[in-house]
Amino acid sequence: MNYQQILENIYQEIQPFAGIGKQADYIPALAKVDPDQFGICINTIQGETFMLGQADTRFSIQSISKVFSLAVCLSLEGDELWKRVGKEPSGTAFNSLVQLEVEKGIPRNPFINAGAIVLADILLKHLSHPEEDFLHFIRNICGNDTINYNEEVAVSEREKGYLNAAIANLLKYHHNIENDIERVLHFYFLQCSVEMSCYDLSKAFLAFANHKQPFTFGDINLTASQVKRINAIMQTCGFYDEAGEFSYLVGLPGKSGVGGGIAAVYPLRYSVAVWSPRLNRKGNSVMGIKALELLTTQTQESIF
Ligand code: GLN
Repeated sequence: MNYQQILENIYQEIQPFAGIGKQADYIPALAKVDPDQFGICINTIQGETFMLGQADTRFSIQSISKVFSLAVCLSLEGDELWKRVGKEPSGTAFNSLVQLEVEKGIPRNPFINAGAIVLADILLKHLSHPEEDFLHFIRNICGNDTINYNEEVAVSEREKGYLNAAIANLLKYHHNIENDIERVLHFYFLQCSVEMSCYDLSKAFLAFANHKQPFTFGDINLTASQVKRINAIMQTCGFYDEAGEFSYLVGLPGKSGVGGGIAAVYPLRYSVAVWSPRLNRKGNSVMGIKALELLTTQTQESIF
């Protein structure tokens, strides 16, 4: 498959979508990012790399970090984890509180904020140096030792983090947070602030694309079945209340973040990461979704 040629065609075809949407501005530090950037990178399990645009530029991975948290949590807790978080699509916004009230503090899935805040609490219980250990796992899985948190972004989000604080309080009220709320939120915001390029993210997601290879990164190990199940949750829950639309248009398991990134996998073939900061009303990258729709349409390769 001539992926490079396909990426070049896609780049031309998405130009009419340039300028649509706007970058996340509820996190003040993200509002400063130049919104008119675009990068994409494919890594195949055979070891080929195809890149276009600003594929080497680092951006805030935001909720894409929730996939890494889930991987670490599953490795540490196994199925015990599912006592504290569900695995059903939410059909609501990433930062919604409504279902938490109805479901007595059990978030619908690990990929909405409420779910990831519970995961952060679980990680604090298991990891002796949570911030260092989490970063170490990401550096390992993408093979880049220079990956880091952006503390300015984390602090900026905390300063305006009223909704996430409300979620954490509701979780604590329902006894689904063990640690101090401030400690949990600090770790959660730092996780979201990790900066990676499309190249780094695509490299990291190869481990999810290739469940036939052992998933072993330092002390973090998953079985092939656990990796496939993470993909299943990406498929059903990776795009909040746009998961159905993404499945319909793109047909790959994936995860988005409000930094404008999307990482997705075509199991046993490739992983892809795309980035463009302008978001639609559901908080997903406009050009990113369009590019992936064109990728699976033009290659005629999707999981369906
Ligand atoms: N840090 C962001 C938040 O909690 C992550 C949201 C996202 O990327 N969808 O609001």
